[in-house]
Amino acid sequence: MTDAIATFFLFWLGAGVGSFVSLKVLRSINQSTKGGSHCDKCRHKLAWSDLVPVLSYVVLGGKCRYCRQSISPTYGLFEILMGCLFALSYLYLPLSFIELAVWLAVATLLMSLFLTDLYCRKLPFIQILILTILCSIFVVLTGVFSEQKMCTSVMIEHIFSLIPLTGLFGTVFLLTRGRLIGGGDVLLGLPIAILLEWRWAIVALLLASVLALIFYLPLFFAKKIKSNTKIPFGSFLAIAALTSFFVMKLFVDFF
Ligand SMILES: [Zn+2]
Repeated sequence: MTDAIATFFLFWLGAGVGSFVSLKVLRSINQSTKGGSHCDKCRHKLAWSDLVPVLSYVVLGGKCRYCRQSISPTYGLFEILMGCLFALSYLYLPLSFIELAVWLAVATLLMSLFLTDLYCRKLPFIQILILTILCSIFVVLTGVFSEQKMCTSVMIEHIFSLIPLTGLFGTVFLLTRGRLIGGGDVLLGLPIAILLEWRWAIVALLLASVLALIFYLPLFFAKKIKSNTKIPFGSFLAIAALTSFFVMKLFVDFF
């Protein structure tokens, strides 16, 4: 029963955080971050009842209450995704309370970077810096809470992840002079390398590349994008890192 209540609570916490993040990111495109919450289309000020995560979107049928113009489905989808991420983290990840708290902050930043790169084609340095600090804290906590491994051996294993991720990204960045992947992608490799053990860092890298190919190759052949279009590789990397982390934590006993 307490598990059900905690899962319910975490879903809504995640959805609330998702609502905040999606508002911040999508508003930054329209340069309208200042002032209270308002409709993107008619600028009408929104009441609290318009801002309930998931429910407001569903009840209003994805339309603004005042001008009846459709609201981007990204808001509702992102809230549901974040809610599920929080609830599933609590239900399935073998983490202590404090590890879970730090992980949820890490997951929120990764999702924020996913959305920011997808919509704005940029990876803010400050977010990557905070993410790097949080990932380091998480790894140290894992070392403290792990009975089998000493903190230092955990750290060494994670430092090995730096080689495939930042090493490869740095090389590609330098060789292509930042045309194929941006400097932000190289930097994002750092917190991900700290978070994941080296095998899983390679898994994340491969998964991100496969996802990027699946989504962008059809667009390229359909001539919807040109060869010099900037691909939001950071978005794919963030999603791949989240997925790899879940698989690493769930199946770590099998390897
Ligand atoms: Zn409106």
